[in-house]
Amino acid sequence: MLSPIEKILYAVAVLVSLYFTYRGVMRIIGHISSGQGKPDWKLIWKRIGDVIIKAGLFEPVFRLRPVVSLLHAFIGWGLLVYLLINLTDVIYAYTGFKLLHQLGIFGDLYRLLADFFGVAIMVGMASLAFRRYVLQPPQLTTRQTTLLNPKARTGIVRDSAIVTTTFFTHNLMRMLGESFYLAQRGQVDRWQPFISATSRLWSGLDTNTLVVVEHAAFWLSIGAVVAFLPYFPYSKHIHLFFAPINFALKPERKSIGELNFINLDDQSIEQFGAATMKDLGWEQIMDAYACIMCFRCQEVCPAYSTDKVLSPAALEVNKRYHLNYGGATDVPMLNLISEEAVWACTSCGACVDICPVGNEPMRDILHIRRNLTMMESNFPKQLETAFKGMERNANPWNISQADRMKWAQGLNVPTIEQNPDPDVLWWVGCAPATDSRAQKTAQAFAKILNTAGVNYAVLGQNEQCTGDSARRAGREDIFFGLASANVEILNEVKPKRIVTTCPHCLHTIKNEYPALGGNYTVIHHTQFINELVGEGKISLEVNSDQYTVTFHDPCYLGRHNKIFEAPREALNSAGVTIIEMPRNASKSFCCGAGGAQMWKEEENGNMRVNEARFKEAKETGANTLAVGCPFCMTMLSDASRAEGGSVEVKDVAELVADRVKTGT
Ligand code: SF4
Ligand code: SF4
Repeated sequence: MLSPIEKILYAVAVLVSLYFTYRGVMRIIGHISSGQGKPDWKLIWKRIGDVIIKAGLFEPVFRLRPVVSLLHAFIGWGLLVYLLINLTDVIYAYTGFKLLHQLGIFGDLYRLLADFFGVAIMVGMASLAFRRYVLQPPQLTTRQTTLLNPKARTGIVRDSAIVTTTFFTHNLMRMLGESFYLAQRGQVDRWQPFISATSRLWSGLDTNTLVVVEHAAFWLSIGAVVAFLPYFPYSKHIHLFFAPINFALKPERKSIGELNFINLDDQSIEQFGAATMKDLGWEQIMDAYACIMCFRCQEVCPAYSTDKVLSPAALEVNKRYHLNYGGATDVPMLNLISEEAVWACTSCGACVDICPVGNEPMRDILHIRRNLTMMESNFPKQLETAFKGMERNANPWNISQADRMKWAQGLNVPTIEQNPDPDVLWWVGCAPATDSRAQKTAQAFAKILNTAGVNYAVLGQNEQCTGDSARRAGREDIFFGLASANVEILNEVKPKRIVTTCPHCLHTIKNEYPALGGNYTVIHHTQFINELVGEGKISLEVNSDQYTVTFHDPCYLGRHNKIFEAPREALNSAGVTIIEMPRNASKSFCCGAGGAQMWKEEENGNMRVNEARFKEAKETGANTLAVGCPFCMTMLSDASRAEGGSVEVKDVAELVADRVKTGT
């Protein structure tokens, strides 16, 4: 128990500390509030269970680096347990009352828990410090070629040292203090085995000495935290607050890739996209404070992995360091990420999916593109051809709409005029309709539909590009024009269901057209194939010797729309042997075409993204690489050809159509 003078000193120290902490927190709130939009507080109640799982169990942390994540979880869980411990320690310091000793079995079990986590925190911290300062893995920083605030290169290391020292000291001193308390009384507490074992070491010390060291331990333990608090808002550990807030308040998205709608009919809009940080949504500014600076997003980024200058982590770190060092949110975004990096993003969503605190660096990048293309007409020149194609002929290949049904000649594919009341509207997509390789997918799927006797129709010449590529490149005007026209015709047709042969079409129609008044049930062709197999409408000749297949999950089918099993199920029905690549399902590695990359040259790196992915596929030993997206088909076929064509690239529909029994 503290002396009266110590109690006054402690209270004053806490008040001073809280005052400076408050100022730091208000500064952060000011920055976040300068962003666009406002939080919807009602979301908290809807998501409370999810927040507890994510923030309390650290579920998202475990998606990568499991051992490191476990050490991190020890620290996190330990600090949560210590919240009550710290409170009871302060109560004891002021009253001499040991609360946890008076709470029966709850108090006993809690002391046991705290004893275990007291050690676990120190083991976790020591191990992570060893990793950072001795092992120094490259995953904890970024390459010199990446734009990173110079203060961050040393700042992140220093920040970790301060936090580790503070909490290690806090923990160690707290446990020692408790051991001095037991030693004074010659007691052993079986609910605190580690502390009790330590207390035996002090059996030779007299009571006065033990009282002095107990007080010293209290001041070092609680004092470390009180001294740390004002620094807390500037440290990366402020994520302890902003990560749960991120989970609770991040605006609702239909998919990680759903971009916010801009009504181009609204003449009052003056700024499209993000020229400065304050043009970002409030939650995008908050991402900077939620960031742990763990560089997980960088590790999974296909652009960074192939040596491009893009690092999604560096973007969040730069936002944070700019604000931490007195900067305001009117900073140009291109001071925080290079233009080259902005155009290297494939919008694969891997960074968003893996981020343990729910950050969305991809969203920032796509908002920056909006500003560059819409406000400054500044974009890679190769994109002009695709833009013109979409503006003039409603498809990025710039093929005349009059030729849009050429792929179906002789195949008996009904248009909506010929079959106005179909059970299923097949959204063919520009690539399967116009690209010579992807047309084979459309032809295969037509064979499946016709064999199954499905009542379907296509829009034919009335189908226009969904606008996906234009949108990811920032051209909201082109997207708005195409999407409005498509929604108008779809609302006339009133499809019962839409099946697409392209995940980008699926994503856009399903997740982005609702903002324009288009609400439809949309499925991927592999899902529909499974239905037909399940209902016995098609039967397949199974010959498992022919193909060993590895399946490449398209980003816009898998990560963006969580469709992982359907393509595999369809392949299983076709009797092929599937060999998974190391990076599959939600951890799939991009083919390199998304985010409008299909229409431009890649930025400089040590390898093309499609080559990196193809290499991984080839290493499985499979003779066939199955895809479910026409963009992936193009990218991976190119990579296969460059390697001599030893691995055949086929759409799932082609593999199924090859085996479908006809005329039975
Ligand atoms: S969306 Fe993909 S390419 Fe873009 S920054 Fe994120 S991980 Fe990298
Ligand atoms: S954005 Fe997320 S994944 Fe990337 S460094 Fe920050 S916390 Fe880690």
